Amino acid sequence: MVTVISGGVGAARLLQGLHRRIATHDLIAVVNVADDMVLHGLHISPDLDTITYTLANEVSTERGWGLEGESWQAMKMVGHYGGQDWFSLGDRDLGTHLYRTQRLNEGVPLSTVTAEIARAWGLDLTIIPVTNNPVRTMVTLAEGPGTGEEIGFQEYFVGRQHDIAVSAVRFDGIESSHPAEGVEAALDISGRIIIAPSNPVVSVDPVLAIPGIRDHMKRRRDRVIGISPIIGGKALKGPAARLMTEMGFESSAVGVAKYYQDICGTLVIDTADAALAPAIEALGVRCVVTDTVMSEPGVLDALCDTILDL
Ligand code: GDP
Ligand code: CA
Repeated sequence: MVTVISGGVGAARLLQGLHRRIATHDLIAVVNVADDMVLHGLHISPDLDTITYTLANEVSTERGWGLEGESWQAMKMVGHYGGQDWFSLGDRDLGTHLYRTQRLNEGVPLSTVTAEIARAWGLDLTIIPVTNNPVRTMVTLAEGPGTGEEIGFQEYFVGRQHDIAVSAVRFDGIESSHPAEGVEAALDISGRIIIAPSNPVVSVDPVLAIPGIRDHMKRRRDRVIGISPIIGGKALKGPAARLMTEMGFESSAVGVAKYYQDICGTLVIDTADAALAPAIEALGVRCVVTDTVMSEPGVLDALCDTILDL
């Protein structure tokens, strides 16, 4: 059994490669929900949906999120009324949010709705939100007129295009949250626990910080394999590098190794960072060097083979 601690796009790609190799039901994605939000009264779970749509081969190849063959009529109407149209929701995608919200309002937990949605897409891997409790990433702005103000993650990521300095990240609601059913068991029995190449600060940390998860990971440290989302000091996309720096870590594969040091026995880093391997090993983290840019031909399959051979 393989469990993958997952953010959005990077995790979805990795899961696609692993899914081609691992027998049905032996692959579990434990997914961040701190990006979730309620907008237009609808419960939106960006990371869960990116993973589901990608594995269903329905994700927009152009955007990497949302659905293929999307139209935007509903959003145009929202804009027409002067409503909140800064977070794009396609017409097909809206159907997912309508269904999820309706089920949640009926009292069904998010994990059950997620399983229902995955089943409807014919998926046989297990996709579990790390928790059924509301946990929300909040960031404190460190520049501009709103300095010191806390805003929600999507407002930072999409609304401000993550182009603003941040002084703190907080996961609202995390103290009273619990791992969803099946998460701790998956961590305890998996032969491999993989930390996907996702943003350490705002995708992986809000999973690790759910009470209990970090302790389970620590006990299984020898089984944990991380993949660095930072290559040559930069993120391929998004604010991972800058958030690492803002949180006091260097934005490099060594910084990632430090971030995960207590829970991760092995870190896979990109060939471009081969020279950093000794510094990572010096932290007591085994370092594996290979190509990790999954959009390049052949890399995803080779990376999955490497991980499964370790
Ligand atoms: P989200 O998709 O916005 O939820 O963001 P994630 O938390 O999944 O992570 C995006 C991070 O994953 C960025 O820091 C990227 O650098 C990293 N990433 C995305 N694709 C790849 C890849 O193919 N290889 C590696 N090594 N990192 C990747
Ligand atoms: Ca995300």
